[in-house]
Amino acid sequence: MSQSDPLFERVALIGIGLIGSSLAHATRRGNLAGEIVVSTRSADTLKRAEELGLGDRYEADAAKAVEGADLVILSIPVGAYGKVAEAIGPYLAKGAILSDVGSTKGTVVRDVEPHVPASVHFIPGHPIAGTEHSGPDAGFASLFEGRWAILTPPADADPAAVDKLTRFWTACGSKVDTMDPDHHDRVLAIVSHLPHIIAYNIVGTADDLEAVSKSEVIKYSASGFRDFTRLAASDPTMWRDVCLSNRDAILEMLGRFSEDLASLQRAIRWGDGDKLFDLFTRTRAVRRSIIEAGQEVDAPDFGRHPEIQPKKEQAAD
Ligand code: NAP
Repeated sequence: MSQSDPLFERVALIGIGLIGSSLAHATRRGNLAGEIVVSTRSADTLKRAEELGLGDRYEADAAKAVEGADLVILSIPVGAYGKVAEAIGPYLAKGAILSDVGSTKGTVVRDVEPHVPASVHFIPGHPIAGTEHSGPDAGFASLFEGRWAILTPPADADPAAVDKLTRFWTACGSKVDTMDPDHHDRVLAIVSHLPHIIAYNIVGTADDLEAVSKSEVIKYSASGFRDFTRLAASDPTMWRDVCLSNRDAILEMLGRFSEDLASLQRAIRWGDGDKLFDLFTRTRAVRRSIIEAGQEVDAPDFGRHPEIQPKKEQAAD
């Protein structure tokens, strides 16, 4: 392979929403594929992908799209994996890498693995990068820059295939970690799934409240509420599937969260200011560590002010 040869001859992107279209942009920008084939469930989305020039070829049939591809990436809701894997399994090329971007990993392995021929390298993945927007118009090439991509290769995975997929994500701007699927699901339950569930809940509670009018909730939202609404605006299908797929880890974290919330409630009831102050000091330090790790900008107002934040706003999940 010469220096200018793309990393893959043909990349098939199954699903072309926020993540799939961002992969298309990043693949194109990095010259990572000789050909990008795009496939998606609906005629409308496929047409829009074509209008946006996200691929070189467009296929309504996912099985047709994966033929001859040396990298196939599923970017669809995790609840749809089993059906799609069953449809494409027999058409995957010998020696191809099959990966994905799903936010949970245990059920992905359970649902996809049975349909993957032995000659195909199945290496699940998950970029910890996203926004609350969906669809092919929402993607952009820099989405993965400076963000982590987690791979969960099976114990007997071919190291050369893992290395090639790692190089793909690195070329998209990501830092790459590997771990086993169960560990991934427990970690993501606390850093991503629980925050989204809490956001959905608090926004739902505010929406149900009768003592405060809806117009007041909107009018005074900059006092804190607004920051939850960004998470709570995330795609309903995706998050329904995440909750159903990572049920055990989420329930475990929710149990822990409820206990800690009850303890906080007690501290407020009994006027235990020291306890509140200690907790709020500890949590402030966590935010500082996130900024130091380059996973957030050190700008007031969460860096949302357009003059202070040149890049598109990102949310990791
Ligand atoms: P999205 O913007 O809503 O796009 C979803 C894509 O999946 C579309 O191409 C859609 O096709 C297709 N799709 C939807 N339901 C389907 C079904 N039942 N069968 C087959 N295809 C279906 O979603 P996204 O945000 O890119 O998320 C895709 C994956 O990335 C999910 O697994 C999610 O967990 C993961 N992820 C998301 C984020 C995030 O922040 N959004 C971050 C990291 C990982 P049509 O439009 O043609 O119906």
